[in-house]
Amino acid sequence: MLPNSVSGKLFARANKVLVEGVSSASRGALNYTPYPPYIRAGEGAFLSDVDGNRYLDWMMSFGALPMGHSHPEIVEVIQREASRGTHFATALEVEVEVAEKLVSMLPTADKVRFANTGTEACMAAFRMARALTGRSKIVKFEGHYHGWYDAVLLNSNPQPPLSLGHRNDPIRIPDSSGLTPGSLQDTIVVPWNDEEALRRVMDTAGRQVACVVTEGIMTNMGVIAPKPGYLNFVEKICRDYGALFYLDETVTGFRVGAAGCAELYSLTPDIITYGKALGQGFPIAAITGPERIMEALEWGKVLHYGTHNAPRLGLFACKAMLYAMTKDGNAGFQHLHDIGVAMADAIRGVVAAQSKHKVIVQGVGSLFQFYFTDCNAIGDYRDFCAFADRAKFRRFANSLLQHGVYISPSNALHNLSSLAHTEQHVATTAEAFSRALHELD
Ligand code: PMP
Repeated sequence: MLPNSVSGKLFARANKVLVEGVSSASRGALNYTPYPPYIRAGEGAFLSDVDGNRYLDWMMSFGALPMGHSHPEIVEVIQREASRGTHFATALEVEVEVAEKLVSMLPTADKVRFANTGTEACMAAFRMARALTGRSKIVKFEGHYHGWYDAVLLNSNPQPPLSLGHRNDPIRIPDSSGLTPGSLQDTIVVPWNDEEALRRVMDTAGRQVACVVTEGIMTNMGVIAPKPGYLNFVEKICRDYGALFYLDETVTGFRVGAAGCAELYSLTPDIITYGKALGQGFPIAAITGPERIMEALEWGKVLHYGTHNAPRLGLFACKAMLYAMTKDGNAGFQHLHDIGVAMADAIRGVVAAQSKHKVIVQGVGSLFQFYFTDCNAIGDYRDFCAFADRAKFRRFANSLLQHGVYISPSNALHNLSSLAHTEQHVATTAEAFSRALHELD
């Protein structure tokens, strides 16, 4: 990017008034060299920045845009509804309609509680699990992220390239300063995709565990699929010890099919939380579960309040998204799947046609990620920390920007398809990928 670009000037101004120049660390100089492109508009599968550059976007707002940018149906409904009022903080007809639609789509959902962000939904879910079981402990997995709630900020951040030791040796790395020992003392961290590791922990502490929380697909260390049967094992061991099985579908919900990982892997979780794709670009999240779980929230027994809960405009976007994606027998979800798989295959093709860099590609349906690594697979957090060359990935992603393709330069995140992506976009991206790979040192 040119030193005198409008983005460069904006970043200089931003650094004077915003911490690190941005509002969430991954958007700034941590990932973008020397500064992020300032995005002015999004249309379909494309972003354009303030300097007039255009990018084919595979980040899609960290997964929040299953229909792509400024989809005509969303623009129409939001323009219409904004002219009637932005937020009332009252009971709404659209709130009932969206909850009814969700209950019809999600097999384990008898009821829905709307929140704003994934973090908030997770926080409420942990409190519900503790209230319902009368137990304190939470089991979470290494490398899984469940928002920035104190109790789950252990081993979620990628660590500097190093070996974190044998998987049988527990590690507890706080992700933030400012956490009290008390906030973390009831959190147990276990390596993922490892049945024995979880069994050992549950055999020792299982009767004190309120819930075991897992992402359905590990999406905060790139994209790592669960081993066949692994999540069913997690569910079963929860049942054995009377702990709740909590599936965090913030990323995977309304992304890998109409009923997410619960459907994909034949799971019956006690609690599921959603966010991101649910709002089609608006902050809206949801906690769902069977009646016996959801009743914990009744009459404030488990407190979950919020001025912006069930945000009105977000609900209209959500309703439009759910109907668009499920029309013609879930054709929307099928499209996301097909394009995601095609893009992952296309990258594999590009990589196979050269021998300069060792790259592997991992994906599940709409979600895909690649790693510069000598390994044949990245299977968990410790693999990611030790074997994925994140600095090289960052350089490559920044160079892809110059070739008109936008992916997040953080290898720990992931890339995804939308309704707006086509086979032609897959081909264009593959060409850009090939050129950028050729230029990479
Ligand atoms: N859970 C998972 C699995 C996530 O990936 C994220 C965000 N990346 C969250 C929860 C938190 O969501 P939010 O950023 O909306 O607070």
